[in-house]
Amino acid sequence: MLEKLQRFIDKIKSLRSLRLRIFVLLLVIGTMPSLIMREVILSSYEARAVAVQSSVVQNQMKIIANHLINYNYLQDTSSAVINAEIEELSSLYDGRVLIINDHLKAVKDTYGISEGKTVVSEEIIKCFSGKSTSNYDSVNGYIELTLPITMAVTASDDETAVTGGGTTVNGEKVVGAILISIATDNIRTTVDILSARSRNLLLIAEILIILLAFFFSAILVKPLNKVTKAISEVKEGFSDDAIQVSDYAETVHIIDAFNALLARMRILDASRQDFVSNVSHELKTPITSMKVLADSLIAQEDAPVEMYREFMEDITEEIDRENKIITDLLSLVKMDKTAASLTITEVNMNELAEVVLRRLRPIARKRDIEVTFESHREVKALVDEVKISLVISNLVENAIKYNKEHGSVNVVLDADHQYMKIVVSDTGIGIPEDSLDHIYERFYRVDKSHSREIGGTGLGLAITRSAVLMHRGFIEVESVPDTGTTFTVRIPLDCRQTQNVDKDKT
Ligand code: ADP
Repeated sequence: MLEKLQRFIDKIKSLRSLRLRIFVLLLVIGTMPSLIMREVILSSYEARAVAVQSSVVQNQMKIIANHLINYNYLQDTSSAVINAEIEELSSLYDGRVLIINDHLKAVKDTYGISEGKTVVSEEIIKCFSGKSTSNYDSVNGYIELTLPITMAVTASDDETAVTGGGTTVNGEKVVGAILISIATDNIRTTVDILSARSRNLLLIAEILIILLAFFFSAILVKPLNKVTKAISEVKEGFSDDAIQVSDYAETVHIIDAFNALLARMRILDASRQDFVSNVSHELKTPITSMKVLADSLIAQEDAPVEMYREFMEDITEEIDRENKIITDLLSLVKMDKTAASLTITEVNMNELAEVVLRRLRPIARKRDIEVTFESHREVKALVDEVKISLVISNLVENAIKYNKEHGSVNVVLDADHQYMKIVVSDTGIGIPEDSLDHIYERFYRVDKSHSREIGGTGLGLAITRSAVLMHRGFIEVESVPDTGTTFTVRIPLDCRQTQNVDKDKT
């Protein structure tokens, strides 16, 4: 059952193939015109042949009609000349000739069936009103022609009078009619021969069209197969270069998009590799220091207790450092998640900033750095409290860490109707201009040894930026070396609303 279903699905899938569609399209485009042309040519040949035949016979009928009048045949059918003429006409076209007089009586029938009988038909009636008729019966294969037999009206006759069965039209009086039925076997035979020949030609053309459609459909989809092959090679790892299939503008677009994706993936991969090697290096550094300290203690026999204490203090410091790196890494991993993982509550930002600053002021006091907080209004925002407190504490911690003795740190909190603004400025060492673009990178530090000395991991600003972006906010920095740095953070007062607006936009 399942197998059958799978086969059915495979069949449907193969119908969706572009190659099959192109093949069918070429087949239809190639076949339709020849089919239509064949039908049109055959039917117009038939119509033309019937018209020519009719006109030839009609001319002969006219000649006979004149002879009939001259020999007064309608009154006396004994003329051997006329009878021979009529028989000749009949046998020439393998048909039947009827001569009808003005009393609608057949005076001559080459088949001998209707002679002496009254013959009435729509065509005969039309004929007596002066019109000749011509009908082609394609089903039974004959043409029926009628021709009025007319004679000039003498002065004594009325112009429009009806005499007997005849009418007078334009000075000619209809005194009888000739009716001829001729077989169209010869036309039919020619049409059949033409039809058979054209069918054979069509068959040959069809085979050619199928071959060409098969060939061209393969050629047309070839670039797409090339694209699939090139992408598969990259997927399998056989090729690392940007791929190129420039046959169509469309394939160029696909390949461009794929190459852009590939480039982005390579960057991500490179940054992941960088990150892993940075993490290993950062985690190894404190362990190496601890090992050196411990080894030198072991190497020293009878080391004094003071030395043990001093080295153990250093080892504890390294353990704290290791701990900080791991804590920061864990924070960073949490920040890598999407905005959906935010725990949003209504937070009084003034209170939150006060709490963070209260915790950091003792550290600042050690270096006689003054930390001030300015806020002209109460700011309440729907944000993730833990992450936003991390943003403020990282920025203020840096402002203290990279400050000068007796410096100052100022934190300003403000808001408009949509965004809250947190500005952290310091009078510290500043950041060189060429480093400004890199400070948010993981493990980036302007001065590695100085940062390490003061307990930096190089992860603080990466965590801060991720937290701000998760809230769909912005972070900017301005810095003058040796004078100070100002970080400005803008975060929507209700980041859920911003998410909805964004969703609506997409
Ligand atoms: P760290 O843990 O080293 O402080 P951060 O990611 O927080 O790492 O900061 C990255 C680098 O940016 C720091 O090493 C420092 O060189 C520079 N920096 C950050 N904040 C400031 C500041 N307020 N003043 C001067 N330099 C700063």
